[in-house]
Formats: sequence, C-alpha cells, structure tokens
Amino acid sequence: MTRVSIRDDLRALEGYHSPQVDVAVRLNTNEAPDEPPVEFREAVAAEVARVTWNRYPDRSATALREAIASLHGVDPSMIFAANGSNEVLQTILLTFAGPGRTVATFEPTYQLHAHIARLSGATVVEGERGDGFVLDLDEVRRVVDSANPSVTFLCSPNNPTGVVDAESDVRAVIDMAPGLVVVDEAYGQFSSWTAQSLVSDDAAVAVVRTFSKTWSMAAGRLGYVIAPAWMVAELDKVVLPYHLDAVKQAAGVLAIGYLDEMNARVERIVAERDRLVAALADLPVDVFPSGANFVLFRPRATSGRTVWQGLLDRGVLVRDCSGWPRLADCLRVTIGTPDENRIFHESLQEVLS
Ligand SMILES: *Cc1c(COP(=O)(O)O)cnc(C)c1O
Repeated sequence: MTRVSIRDDLRALEGYHSPQVDVAVRLNTNEAPDEPPVEFREAVAAEVARVTWNRYPDRSATALREAIASLHGVDPSMIFAANGSNEVLQTILLTFAGPGRTVATFEPTYQLHAHIARLSGATVVEGERGDGFVLDLDEVRRVVDSANPSVTFLCSPNNPTGVVDAESDVRAVIDMAPGLVVVDEAYGQFSSWTAQSLVSDDAAVAVVRTFSKTWSMAAGRLGYVIAPAWMVAELDKVVLPYHLDAVKQAAGVLAIGYLDEMNARVERIVAERDRLVAALADLPVDVFPSGANFVLFRPRATSGRTVWQGLLDRGVLVRDCSGWPRLADCLRVTIGTPDENRIFHESLQEVLS
C-alpha cells in the first residue's frame, strides 16, 4: 500500500494537546463555570426553528458584525468573525504569514500562536519574557530587529501566566515591530485596559477576542478580530466562503444582548479568583499574580506532575504545564464555581500535606 506523506515542514510537528478527562471538577481549559442565561438559550432555540436550511447563510455575517461593532463602538468594516478565535488567528496567519515569512512570539504564551503559524508554513522565532513573565522591551527589540517578523503576537492577559501587559509596553512593541501586531485578548474583559484604541487605519494592529471564555459560549465556537478595514478586507478574501453557519451568527447576535449578565459573571469570577489566591497564600506554593480567570502556581517542595496526579486522583483536573519550557513544575487552575474552587483548594491541601 502506498502511504501519502505529509508536508516536509509538518512532519516534526506535534498536534495541540489539551487532555480531557471525565472527572467531577474540570478546571483545565479556562471555560466559564456558568452557562449563559436560560433566556439566551431559549432565544437561540427559537432562531434555530427559523433557519432557512436549504439556503446558504449570510456570507458576510452582516448582523453579527454590526452587533460586535456596536459593542466596541467601531465601524462594522473593522470586524472579522470566524469559528473561534483560533480560526481568526489561522486566517490572519494564512493572510500575513506563510512560507518564507517569520512570526514572533514572546514565551511563555498561548501555544497555538506558534503552532498555527507553523501550520501556515511560517518560521517561528520565540523571544523570551523577563522576570515574572513580563515583556522585556530589550528582548523585543532584539527579536524584531533580527527576525523582521511579518506578524508579532502579544497576549494580554497572557495565557498561561495571567500577566496583563502594560499599555506602554504594548505601544512600544507596536512602534518597534515591522509588520502586523496581533494582541490576543481572549481574557480581555478581565483586564483593566484593552488595546482596542490602538487599532487604526494607519497602524497594523489587530485585537482578537472570543466568545469562548467570558461569554460562556465555548461550545458555540465564535471569535473575532477588531482590525483596520483594509485588513478585514484581506481576511475576507482568504477565509472559506460561508464559514459562519446561520445558527452561530444568530447565537452571537443574541449573546451580545446579555452584556450585563456577562459582566456580572466576570465580576463574580474575579471575586472568586481573589479569594482563591488569598487562600493559596497559606499553602507551600508560589502563585503568579493573575489578571484573568485562571491562576498559575508552582508547588515548592513537590513536583508539579505529582501534584497534578494527586489532584486528578481526587477528581480535580487542572492544566499540567509542568513539562512545558520555562514553566517547570507549574500548574494552571481555572476559576470555577465557589464549590469547585473549594474542592480544588481542599484537594490541593491534602496533596501537599
Ligand atoms: C482560550 C483562548 C482562545 C480561545 O480560542 P477559541 O478558538 O476562541 O475558543 C484564544 N486565545 C487564547 C490566548 C486563549 O486562551
């Protein structure tokens, strides 16, 4: 039998892994602990009943773009939406990266930036963050000057560290970077500031958002970018036609009608996060300050892998970052419901004692 071989440049790549285990307390993928309001779910069901199934959906997702644009106070021509922000990132990279081009990341950060860049055929240059995983502008200067990246990624609040980049640092990176700067704000609603105002016609800046986390819609797969209209027009050329199905378009519009409920959920999660961080201070772990809905921590005397397994044995799944470069022994826990957080804390206490 003849086996067809995959692209040479993909042969050494590993897939993206985020192991799912069926346990009672799942705090490993930064999802929202609560579902969206029941009224939203009923409204989506009613929209499903109205779908004209034999016809293609609105290719330019006009109503959805308008709803997102008015949420941010920008023109709809500055919004491009796709199936999760991962597809937004993929479309950006297919359009502006690809073979012969370079993409810069500052590690540790969201693994899919580098992964999708490599899938596009681009070369990835990984810069380092400084102490406390904060941006180091000398390092940024070194990387952009030597690699001349077509796309430079930032992530604020950063996953998996929780660090919020300073506005002055993001402005400095935009000034230094020769190409497009993408600011991934998947956790933007938890942050004290957004890079949205840095997007303009004369700046190659794109701010990426998702419905997966704060909007409690991970199952719906919807994300978007706020970018200059000229950039959105290029993305529209590259993405597959009719990529956003009719149900998703309707669900996105309806979700935005529940903005206050979303903001209330964010407030509750922040309060829970602060409570959990305070409680962790009594345990033998180093905790990294977080501006998101998760907390990175490192057990001081037990290996991260052992603690991860101990938690799993007690029915609590967190993200095991302990084997990742620069994150030896680190684990990342998503803020869940008050009950889930209590069970996590008690289990961690047991594992560490
Ligand atoms: C969770 C996450 C996303 C979300 O991806 P979707 O495809 O929208 O679900 C994007 N970026 C970062 C940094 C994330 O943590």
